Amino acid sequence: MPASEFDIINRYFATHQPAADVSLGIGDDCAVIAPPPGKALAVTTDTLVAGIHFPPAAAAADIACKALAVNLSDLAAMGAEPRWITLSLTLPGGDEVWIEAFAAEFHAQLQRYRCSLIGGDTTHGPLSVTLQAIGVVDDRHLMRRDRAKPGDRIYVTGTLGDAAIGLQLLERAVPDREWFLARLNRPEPRIDFGRCAAQYCACAIDISDGLAADLGHILERSRVGARVRLRDVPLSRQARAYFEKAGTIDWPLVLAGGDDYELCLALSADAEPVLLQMAADLNVPLACVGEITRDMGLHLLQDDGTELNLSRAGYTHF
Ligand code: ADP
Ligand code: MG
Repeated sequence: MPASEFDIINRYFATHQPAADVSLGIGDDCAVIAPPPGKALAVTTDTLVAGIHFPPAAAAADIACKALAVNLSDLAAMGAEPRWITLSLTLPGGDEVWIEAFAAEFHAQLQRYRCSLIGGDTTHGPLSVTLQAIGVVDDRHLMRRDRAKPGDRIYVTGTLGDAAIGLQLLERAVPDREWFLARLNRPEPRIDFGRCAAQYCACAIDISDGLAADLGHILERSRVGARVRLRDVPLSRQARAYFEKAGTIDWPLVLAGGDDYELCLALSADAEPVLLQMAADLNVPLACVGEITRDMGLHLLQDDGTELNLSRAGYTHF
């Protein structure tokens, strides 16, 4: 007899003792959480659909990892500390091998990020995973999209374009293929850096749809423009080698491929030294790629001084 949704919940998800900040965990109509006094809650949700956000044949553990990472990346972009997760799973069948692999990785990642699974929903249908992540934040130290000011310098963490290359390599064997696929399937949300940065930085976004589109959201919300120098956009050693072989850097792929889950920050000049020190202490690469300008529009400057025009700024669903 196939497992019922209640069997699945009890066997795979309601298996952990609730943490101290969970008044009531899995098993009732609602979870009840106990936020620390004086803190505000930051709430986000993201859905991953098979065939859209991950290949239909993706490993269950990779899907678990990515679903959590994309949600935690949103919290990182605000400077929030992740605490509680809800998980809504739509499953095509009661394939317990799949569910077990998914749940094992999910619990391992929750432990790593010190989050509690407090509830969710389990339904039948085409494979899709929706998470809600709830974090705590000091609302005097938030990073928001609408806080960029002319003269701010634009920084990005890590390297861009690796996941987009990974997506191109799903069916091709090239050097560093596994490394690129790990960047695609197992992004690392910049939680610790985001929390520290929020003490000094008022404006950030996480790069999920590509730098061009996501920086574009900052520009729109802040009513400013930006200049970005492509030469300063950080590429991994692996991406450089990949593009060298191709004979050219595919800038549209780097800037609009998406799935980077790095942070983009607009930083005032006086906060730069402390942020750079903080990034070095946390071992997070942090690169200045340009400036916020009073003039509207996003200008992507190539080495020869001409501007790159992207036909498509980033991933859009419709
Ligand atoms: P209801 O019918 O009241 O929505 P459910 O029967 O769907 O409750 O769920 C029972 C309990 O199990 C609830 O506490 C719910 O939050 C939790 N739950 C359901 N699915 C999951 C899941 N995939 N992961 C974690 N908790 C879950
Ligand atoms: Mg339900």
